[in-house]
Amino acid sequence: MHQLLGEDTAPKANLLAPDTSGMNFYRADPALADLLRIYLPDALFRHIEPHLDRLGALAGGHLDECARLADRHTPVLHPRDKFGRDTQTIEYHPAYRALENAAFGQFGIHAMSIRKGILGWPDKYPVTAKHAFTFLFNQAEFGLGCPINVTDGCAKLLANFGSEALKERYLDGLTQTDMAKLTQGGQFMTEKEGGSDVGTLTTSAVQEGDCWRLYGEKWFCSNADAKVVMLLARPEGAPPGTRGVGLFLMPRFLDDGSQNHYRIVRLKDKLGTRSMASGEIKLDGAIAYAVGKLDRGFVQMAEMVNSSRLSNGVKSTALMRRAWHDAMTVASNRVVFGSRIADLPLGRRQLLKIGLATEQALSMSFMTADALDRAEGGSQDAAALLRILTPTLKFRATRDARKVCGDALEMRGGIGYIEEFATARLLRDAHLGSIWEGTGNIVALDALKRAVGRHGAEAALSADLHARLDDSAKVPQAWRDRLRGLTDRAVGFAREVAAKTDNEAEARRATSLLYHVASAVQLAWEAHRIDEMRGDARRLLLSRLVIDHRVSPSDPFHLAENRTQDTIAALLLGDRAAGMAEVGELIAAA
Ligand SMILES: Cc1cc2nc3c(=O)[nH]c(=O)nc-3n(C[C@H](O)[C@H](O)[C@H](O)COP(=O)(O)OP(=O)(O)OC[C@H]3O[C@@H](n4cnc5c(N)ncnc54)[C@H](O)[C@@H]3O)c2cc1C
Repeated sequence: MHQLLGEDTAPKANLLAPDTSGMNFYRADPALADLLRIYLPDALFRHIEPHLDRLGALAGGHLDECARLADRHTPVLHPRDKFGRDTQTIEYHPAYRALENAAFGQFGIHAMSIRKGILGWPDKYPVTAKHAFTFLFNQAEFGLGCPINVTDGCAKLLANFGSEALKERYLDGLTQTDMAKLTQGGQFMTEKEGGSDVGTLTTSAVQEGDCWRLYGEKWFCSNADAKVVMLLARPEGAPPGTRGVGLFLMPRFLDDGSQNHYRIVRLKDKLGTRSMASGEIKLDGAIAYAVGKLDRGFVQMAEMVNSSRLSNGVKSTALMRRAWHDAMTVASNRVVFGSRIADLPLGRRQLLKIGLATEQALSMSFMTADALDRAEGGSQDAAALLRILTPTLKFRATRDARKVCGDALEMRGGIGYIEEFATARLLRDAHLGSIWEGTGNIVALDALKRAVGRHGAEAALSADLHARLDDSAKVPQAWRDRLRGLTDRAVGFAREVAAKTDNEAEARRATSLLYHVASAVQLAWEAHRIDEMRGDARRLLLSRLVIDHRVSPSDPFHLAENRTQDTIAALLLGDRAAGMAEVGELIAAA
């Protein structure tokens, strides 16, 4: 968080209502650059940095204004064209089109990990690099984050499981950065009967030659007018439950140019992500093509869901970072009772709470993205690590985003609640992260019952965290020992919860503990690495705060020893680096 007072802080033109307009979200975020330097090969980092710098400036300026406009001027569904033909279209505000143009056209975020050559890089990008772009873009606009991600996910599914003929036909459009050739993707799973309980879906698929016809309804369809949709349906005669659902690709347009046989019945009137069209769809014999093995539809789709859950974690982190920028800008500039808010004890405490959850999520996002990159490179250990990190990140980061965005809104006072500033939009958007791609309960159960209970993936997490501590020689031994003990306890508790169905109600607590302890280890490991790079070990202070405030039980009647805490707050909220020796002393004293 400290590092956020980087090179570029917000313009302070209006000290009564300080604003982030004009801030470069990349330059204002040296923690992001630090983590990228840790994870990416130097040549790749140097290649993307100017692009991140450009996106950071756009996200803090032009794109942010586009996001505000697109949120207020929501998409409109036209059931017919002006000649009375039943050709459906969705009309978007030009500001939304400008956002699309930046994300898909200029930066190609949707295609970075699939198509070579984006932004002049000869290879595909690791997911870690792609999500640096996701992170910056979503600080301005969260709604379009969904279409970017599902387009990426559709292409990935197609590349992994589609027939050569389907790939030949649809893969190029899904990964295009030429806006005239781009065909965005969608992912329609949820039906009225169940989003969580996908096995209850009733959409049926009837084979007709080498294609299928779909009948039924899809209840939540984001990017409703997507040109290429991946969906689940039950082939005639298939068994009930998730085993009986197949994965299908459904094009919006047929070969003769007419619209496929499905209708967008209406668009949802949503709390957040209002810029983006989510609709209800009635399938009336829509033409679709089977993707992969018919009886593996759910398992294949789960791959897309998992990469979406990671993306969701990153996007919620972006909302928190934006909330942090806003809160810090206000607190550093607005004067109340003769003091800057940031100089008042409760103001500092509020800032630390916002910043701590944000930095944890940033660290966990990169840890998870890196596990995905390594898993795709063939590492079985990384695949097991990814299995547990993905739902853990999705669970905690999306929930923290709700609170963090609410706290940042309050930091702005009354105008934080007014739609002219970003904070109200951030709060509305933040509430979606923990619903789609699996609600809080569903992802906590996935982490505990499946990742731990069925796959034993907690062993990979434990091994990884211990290895990180072994690899952090600069971190004081006593702190590493403390984190080792807590790692073992968090993993042990997760196993205990997973062992019995009777313990299911503890799944959320166990998942949170895994997240907090993993993030504390990760922050300590990063502190070691960053201290080596540029003599700054302040992330170790965050590691300490995670354990003190999010893991250890506190006596509500105990008065904290404030001097050390004040020094820690001053260091974290200031812009002075602090090396391992100084930080180590504080850790010991805290
Ligand atoms: C804006 C928006 C856009 C969306 N876009 C898409 C999209 O593009 N494609 C798509 O397929 N879906 C989409 N969804 C749907 C979303 O993924 C589902 O709403 C979500 O998965 C929850 O499903 P549900 O609404 O059926 O709720 P339910 O599954 O009925 O859940 C209701 C409650 O029951 C709880 N619950 C369920 N099972 C358990 C359990 N075993 N133990 C304890 N509690 C449980 C849940 O946590 C939740 O609190 C979107 C949703 C929204 C809000």
